[in-house]
Amino acid sequence: MKIYLDGKYYGKEEAKISVFDHGLLYGDGVFEGIRFYHDRVFRLAEHIDRLYDSAKAICLNIPLERAAMIEAVLETIRQNELHDGYVRLVVTRGCGDLGLNPALCSRATVFIIASRITLYPEEMYRNGLSVVTCATRRIPHGALSPMVKSLNYLNNVLAKIEAQLAGAGEGLMLNEQGFVAECTGDNIFTVKKGEIFTPPISSGALAGITRQVAFEMAAELGFRISEPEMTRYDIFTADECFLTGTAAEVIPVVTLDSRVIGDGVPGPITRRLMERFHQLTETMGTAIY
Ligand code: PMP
Repeated sequence: MKIYLDGKYYGKEEAKISVFDHGLLYGDGVFEGIRFYHDRVFRLAEHIDRLYDSAKAICLNIPLERAAMIEAVLETIRQNELHDGYVRLVVTRGCGDLGLNPALCSRATVFIIASRITLYPEEMYRNGLSVVTCATRRIPHGALSPMVKSLNYLNNVLAKIEAQLAGAGEGLMLNEQGFVAECTGDNIFTVKKGEIFTPPISSGALAGITRQVAFEMAAELGFRISEPEMTRYDIFTADECFLTGTAAEVIPVVTLDSRVIGDGVPGPITRRLMERFHQLTETMGTAIY
């Protein structure tokens, strides 16, 4: 495995960053998870835009132009001779001293790992996921915008632990007001009477790239889609439910808090979106080779 680190490539054992890096000391940094399929990177420009927006929102200066960053992602995949997989792109504040002060970090650290991906097991796509509501609330905008894809994922990790302890596939996170925000690493959607719904970003969701693809697919396939504030009631009473995420793609949800959603099987609109999503990943994206 060859890992990009600040402009050079290193083996897995040699790719190391300092214990003084603020990405490690404080979770001070941003990242992206990106997929590539059949020698094409899916939605690369969108991921790069979100990375630079996240960085801007935390006053982190990325020491590469966007075009150079795109090329670094593509070259990392090439160096590993991969055709399908997952890229983790990370930019940290860089090395400083033991204090918080980001001004003492002179240069951001950039690393890129291209690897294969472990998906949810195939039967979960066929039979659907179980989801539980987590007691851990999504961080409010006033504390740290949930729109920033930062290295500070402890909020999501704590919710994930709850989901795992409950034996569920994913955890539903509500915001401070009790409205549905998203799952620990995925956006959530429902289908009711042929219409698709997802919480607005303002409820505390990440502006998921796959979420955006779901909007485009809905428009293309002629489904109405809207973003009302949602509560657990809307999920309990939905006909269908599904999640979207770069790693998860489009995955059906069949229970929330052990209550059966709709017929308890992946619904027809969910299945149509899953199918269309796979077609898009097979035919679109930035050529790697
Ligand atoms: N919400 C959170 C908290 C996430 O970490 C992610 C990415 N794994 C998503 C939603 C989905 O976003 P995307 O479709 O861009 O992967």
